[in-house]
Amino acid sequence: MARRSSRPVPIGELTVGGGGPIVLQSMLSLPLADLDGCRRQVEALAAEGCFLIRVAVPAERDLAQFQKLRKFLPDKNLAFVGDLHYGSELAREALDVFEKVRINPGNFAIRRRPAPEEYGEDLFQRETDTVAAEAEEFFKKARRLDRAVRIGSNGGSLAARTIWRRGHGPDALVESALEMGRWARGADFHGLVFSFKCSSADGTIFANRLARKRMDELSWDYPFHLGVTEAGNGLLARAVGALGIGLLLGDGLGDTIRISLTEPPAAEIRFGKKLLAFCAQNPLPNPPKRTGPVTLLEEGSGPNFLELPPPKEPFDGELCLLETLRTLLSADLLETVCLPPGPRREERKKIARAALQACRWGEFFTAIVACPTCGRATYDVAATVEQIRERLGERAGLRIAVMGCCVNGPGEAGAADYGCVGCGRGRVNIYKKGRCAIRSVEAERAAEELEKLAGTDCRSGPRP
Ligand code: SF4
Repeated sequence: MARRSSRPVPIGELTVGGGGPIVLQSMLSLPLADLDGCRRQVEALAAEGCFLIRVAVPAERDLAQFQKLRKFLPDKNLAFVGDLHYGSELAREALDVFEKVRINPGNFAIRRRPAPEEYGEDLFQRETDTVAAEAEEFFKKARRLDRAVRIGSNGGSLAARTIWRRGHGPDALVESALEMGRWARGADFHGLVFSFKCSSADGTIFANRLARKRMDELSWDYPFHLGVTEAGNGLLARAVGALGIGLLLGDGLGDTIRISLTEPPAAEIRFGKKLLAFCAQNPLPNPPKRTGPVTLLEEGSGPNFLELPPPKEPFDGELCLLETLRTLLSADLLETVCLPPGPRREERKKIARAALQACRWGEFFTAIVACPTCGRATYDVAATVEQIRERLGERAGLRIAVMGCCVNGPGEAGAADYGCVGCGRGRVNIYKKGRCAIRSVEAERAAEELEKLAGTDCRSGPRP
């Protein structure tokens, strides 16, 4: 399908939308206090061809730190996005410093999260009015300075008032962003980019398609930023990201993309380039509906059988994953997949399992939902993911959230079977079945504590 037309949104020297090339972006995973580390990450991203870079701004001092970082970076083609949560005043100040500011409609101008039972029409309306007034000021300034703004809603950080009114699903994700969009338009501000993200490929696809439909009804033509958030790391994260983004690209959506990986930011760009090039040549087809799981065999055959083709040489695991996904999605009736003999059998088996699990046609590993980390993370998320994988990585059917801070942490950990969420320097809260079970544990002990809490919990057991 041809790309959907969207209005061009200038971001410094770059433009997103307007039929231009799809812009790859990433985010620094370090706090701005680590100027040297941030500079190295920016240089690595620019070397990979990434010129749109997001930076977490948790506090006012980070604005000054960012100005220092900018002085080390003479490349005028780089455009930076300040990532703001909670304080509307800080978001307004960030407009002075960044080419683009990302705000989260789920927490803009609201810090306290009343419990759902506190809500009624009165509190809902009061909160809505407060956010609307703050948003008006913010967007008026954005218009005056000619900045771009991303309204980025996220399934892990929906506003309590939105959940009270609309629940946790895609409708809430979409309406939360569109409400903010209406306030932007009320201030006659149109430098908008929208995103609707959650931590599953199917949830993200559904939300973006719903958003496109609603925006068509409103005759809005703002660019879409695509991404599946908190996908984790390794093969499964790539499979989930490729599926979510790839199918939406096939719908003609997407003006800028971010692959979310709990890995160094440049890895996001390397895989993003491969995904865009692959999808341009071989669009991922919308999969037919499946009713049951697909069996993966190492030899033999079975009902509604598909043999995966041998990988191309020279072998590239990421490309092999994309080819496997495309082959699986193309099959009309699929109950059995066989991996033919050949080189790199173990790697190909892991790739096939990751692709099937991303499509929800099989469960082979623990689904580790991990944030890509940013300057807000209070502990080493990547190291904790590896420790958890070592102890609990083969619990097919379990979902464990490993989140760097409170922005999306309680939401994702609350929705997973188990989770840990950064709660202070080097410390995490541990969650079990939606509730915080242990407070403020050293992050190094998180995997051990989770293993104890999980006991023998394993919904469907490991599969061959
Ligand atoms: S949840 Fe992770 S990526 Fe999101 S704001 Fe917190 S540390 Fe950053």
